[in-house]
Amino acid sequence: MSTNGRLLNYINGQWMESGAGAFLDVKNPATAQVMAQVPLSPAEEVHLAAEAGVKAFKHWRRVPAVERVQHLYKFKRLLEEHRDELSRLITNECGKTYAESQAEMQRAIENVEVACGIPSLMQGFNNEDIARGIDEHCFRQPLGVVAAITPFNFPGMVPLWFLPYAVATGNCFILKPSEKVPMTMQRIFQLLEQSGFPPGVVQVVNGAKEAVDAILDHPDIRAVSFVGSTPVARYIYERAARAGKRVQAQGGAKNPVVIMPDADMDMTTRIVADSAFGCAGQRCLAASVGITVGEARNIFVEQLADAAASRKVGYGLDEGVEMGPVITAESKARIEKLIALGEQEGAQVLVDGRNKKVKGYEDGNFVFPTILDHVPPKSEIARTEIFGPVFSLMHAETIEEAIALVNDRSYGNMACIFTSSGAAARQFRYEVNTGNVGINVGVAAPMAFFPFSGWRESFFGDLHAQGMHGVEFYTETKVVVERWPKEWSRKF
Ligand code: NAD
Repeated sequence: MSTNGRLLNYINGQWMESGAGAFLDVKNPATAQVMAQVPLSPAEEVHLAAEAGVKAFKHWRRVPAVERVQHLYKFKRLLEEHRDELSRLITNECGKTYAESQAEMQRAIENVEVACGIPSLMQGFNNEDIARGIDEHCFRQPLGVVAAITPFNFPGMVPLWFLPYAVATGNCFILKPSEKVPMTMQRIFQLLEQSGFPPGVVQVVNGAKEAVDAILDHPDIRAVSFVGSTPVARYIYERAARAGKRVQAQGGAKNPVVIMPDADMDMTTRIVADSAFGCAGQRCLAASVGITVGEARNIFVEQLADAAASRKVGYGLDEGVEMGPVITAESKARIEKLIALGEQEGAQVLVDGRNKKVKGYEDGNFVFPTILDHVPPKSEIARTEIFGPVFSLMHAETIEEAIALVNDRSYGNMACIFTSSGAAARQFRYEVNTGNVGINVGVAAPMAFFPFSGWRESFFGDLHAQGMHGVEFYTETKVVVERWPKEWSRKF
């Protein structure tokens, strides 16, 4: 960071002050303290990074994969050594609890670990004698310069869904982090610098729409990875595809959870409460709609209301705090307005988290856990992504009715079922239209070696983030058919 508290861009191996005409305050959402200022970098700074990336790519793609991953091994060690510091930083700029930040960093590190296996993962395949004396090989080659645009809710993890795979496969990578939480990546890029990546291989350009549009339009940026809200994901997908790029764009969510009457209710309540209110509901895999089936309603609703009302809300670095604030004052206002909309549409506010303060943090953006009961399935509140600690309840008589409610929505990020019946679980897994499914699991977040498999309006593209999908996204296949007639060989 420069001495005046302004964050820097990291371009061509140099930390550079941005020539931005505007800066935004980065505020701690629990204390409202201004921690830094982030530049809204102009398009020219993206162009500089793209140019440096093109130059670096000429050399980087020729570095053997086994050597490229040595930088990632070093980076992984540095992330582990600095995990505590990074977790505190995440809590301070994003609001989640220290334990949640630690878990986020764990997931981030796992992606670096998987990408360290690139020498095996990017292997091609071949056949001898596809015709007499002719062999055919398929190689994977990197694309060139690639970029990612990331959201506020996982400042440490989401950028590392992409960066490790991109650089391990031989690409040069530009990150545009969320302007709401740019500090974690500022620190992580210092660690990347220490890991010895050559200039231009990993770069960060801070900013917002102007920087994003410059990425989408730049002719030398071959692929764009995006994570954020659905309207922006759609925009990114369309504009980048129009410019001829590969795109993977992960969008928003509204994740339903079905609770069957035969579920273990104590376990279910605990897990669903963690899923709905963990990270203050600001997780794309947060449970946000509960569908109780038959008798399940009688016990589950009461137990969940108790869990919601007793959750300890506060500053995420304080002892015993189970839920932090939401990201901004605007976000808090938007969430409280949506709760009021739910009320107007006929829902009953069973636990009301509006207009509450945390002692000592009166300026924080706190919304306490909220439960809306009897939410009409066709209402706007039943379909809108709230992205806050608000859980909506609906009721169904049968599993078929519950699955119909799950599928009657535009998002397809995740759906979960809680049951002790294998048959019910199988029917659910088979029939729901979502890319991630949890069975007696509240946040079905795929491990780094599986794709993060959103469907429908939660994802635009073909290949998802993480694992082999990441490897395929960042490489193109080259098929070589070759003939070497024996008679051409010199006789020895
Ligand atoms: P957002 O869409 O507002 O912003 C995401 C990124 O897009 C940021 O870097 C931002 O600078 C940029 N951006 C915003 N508006 C833009 C515009 N008009 N033109 C160009 N760029 C623009 O999302 P957010 O509020 O930071 O994050 C929360 C959203 O992300 C939620 O909808 C959540 O569900 C989603 N999310 C999805 C996943 C997933 O895996 N599907 C994971 C995490 C978060």
